[in-house]
Amino acid sequence: QETLLEVNGLRVVFKTHGGEINAVRDVTFSLRRGETLAIVGESGCGKSVTAKSIMRLVPEHIGKIASGSILYKGKDLAKLPEKEMREMRGSEISMIFQDAMTSLNPTISIGEQIMEGIIRHQKVSKAEARRQAIEILQLVGIANPESRLKQYLHQFSGGMRQRIMIAIALVCKPSILIADEPTTALDVTIQAQIIDLFKSIQQKTGVSIIIITHDLGVVAKIADRVNVMYAGKVVESGLVRDIFYNPQHPYTKGLLASMPRLDADRNIPLSPIPGTPPDLFSPPPGCAFAARCDYALEVCRNHQPAETTVHSSHAVSCWLQDPRAKKLLASMQVPT
Ligand code: SF4
Ligand code: MG
Repeated sequence: QETLLEVNGLRVVFKTHGGEINAVRDVTFSLRRGETLAIVGESGCGKSVTAKSIMRLVPEHIGKIASGSILYKGKDLAKLPEKEMREMRGSEISMIFQDAMTSLNPTISIGEQIMEGIIRHQKVSKAEARRQAIEILQLVGIANPESRLKQYLHQFSGGMRQRIMIAIALVCKPSILIADEPTTALDVTIQAQIIDLFKSIQQKTGVSIIIITHDLGVVAKIADRVNVMYAGKVVESGLVRDIFYNPQHPYTKGLLASMPRLDADRNIPLSPIPGTPPDLFSPPPGCAFAARCDYALEVCRNHQPAETTVHSSHAVSCWLQDPRAKKLLASMQVPT
């Protein structure tokens, strides 16, 4: 499949009173046409910042892309002038967020909010915009779209609001949809419906999806490929079956172990990974997961693990999988 988006060595730095924080550290991945890529990790791991950086939505007073490139159709989005970037948002790459209430305007009818984007990007008549708005509401599974256009946000349920947000994101036919925790605020039944909706939309339109989530259950249902992020880095990447059936990174294994299982006894507690991610003001010199890792070696604390290929679709950054580790261990002084 054709590569649509290529993120190379992305580094995003936040300015704070206490100094700079490395929120995203050397992140590299690609997105192919028509696929769904999940970016997974705990809150604060840099997954949302990575997504917002692709959209160039990290406000300038908060942070900046310090290095790296984001190639899309021959253009580097990391360096694109804001005016050109504005043209891209919505028509080439769209993003939706967890909470429709904060993303949509409660005082403007749904129809007007959908039509606004169409008119801005396509410069078409109001009648044509209305026709497209009805079509997109049908695509996202909202019944009686003609009468729904006149309604306001408070007249829709949580799941319906999420559908409206998806409709607005898709109405100008972008090739990439980025969804940041799109089902987190919804109850389980609605969550499943929204995931099915993403799948049917992808089948009908061929849109590529990047889904940001902390929920491996969501990943299992929707993703083709997965990037696991920890402390601003991608620590493991692979096809969904690589990650679920052959996880290599101790952090990935920990995430999987803390996943609720439908067949499990609800009284058995999950095993979340003990400890917290490192302070990104001064990330540790070695592996960022070392303080929480049961397998940490001396080398882990002092040297960053390099990316090792497990097989063509699967890569991991962990000393345990690094073929050089044996040699290093042998040459290292073992404390007595
Ligand atoms: Fe654990 Fe070392 Fe692998 Fe980091 S590099 S995850 S500390 S074994
Ligand atoms: Mg987030």
